[in-house]
Amino acid sequence: MPDMKATVREWLDTGKVDLFLGYKQVEGHPLPYAFDRDNLEELQDLMESPARYPLEKLGAGILAVQPNLKIGILGRDCNRRALNVLAVHQQITPGQIEVLELKCCPSPLHKHADCSSLEPRTYGPVKLEVGIDNSMPTARMEQFDQRTRFDKWLYEFQKCLKCYGCRDICPVCFCKECSLEHADLVETGGVPPEVPLFHLIRAVHMAGRCIDCGLCEDACPVDIPLRLLYRKVNEIVKDLFGYETGLSLEQPPLSILGECAPGVTGSHGAAV
Ligand code: SF4
Ligand code: SF4
Repeated sequence: MPDMKATVREWLDTGKVDLFLGYKQVEGHPLPYAFDRDNLEELQDLMESPARYPLEKLGAGILAVQPNLKIGILGRDCNRRALNVLAVHQQITPGQIEVLELKCCPSPLHKHADCSSLEPRTYGPVKLEVGIDNSMPTARMEQFDQRTRFDKWLYEFQKCLKCYGCRDICPVCFCKECSLEHADLVETGGVPPEVPLFHLIRAVHMAGRCIDCGLCEDACPVDIPLRLLYRKVNEIVKDLFGYETGLSLEQPPLSILGECAPGVTGSHGAAV
């Protein structure tokens, strides 16, 4: 995007945004970076990066303490879907975060697919035989009989290190209290976390929230096919409720975990 830096400069100069969240190479790694109009010369370091971080989540976190700021982000289609989810769950106000668009989206929720960070990986024979090929479509997975599917998922879940990387990177995980840290639900002090409860709790909480960005799977150090799991959840949500997550600002949040009082953020975070 040749005029990316010029556009960001204009946005900052004109006050369209006060802060722009993009990427900067730091010690060889493209990392999220906040550019502002007091340091415009730093824009020479702004880069388009194959690395992906939930910039919209970082933006929402900044807005939680500085609600009057106007924030811009470098964003792909998944970032836009996440912004829609954050808005319908009242975590941000629509329009508080402007997106400077990068064309990139590997998700079936969108038509084009050129996300370099999600090129097919190759897996060893054990994973392919006993576990799950992460790039498998949900329909392919369903061709296995129920027992085989169950065993394959158990194999994948028992690798979990309970590092919470999947939750922490997720752009639509915004609960103040996380069920995955609730001692009544997830026993403390053990690895792997109770199989399959830990992952089913997260899967249920992603119903109507997961925007299929794949960041959780990218972050998972043991390659659990989390994206496939949440894609299946999304399919069920669409089949049962006709709800397509993140595609619109007009839809109310999907609540399958009970109702909260208006404006209250419950343990599952949905203000409904
Ligand atoms: S794909 Fe993973 S990180 Fe992305 S929204 Fe869904 S659960 Fe969160
Ligand atoms: S990122 Fe992977 S290993 Fe870490 S808690 Fe999530 S599923 Fe488990």
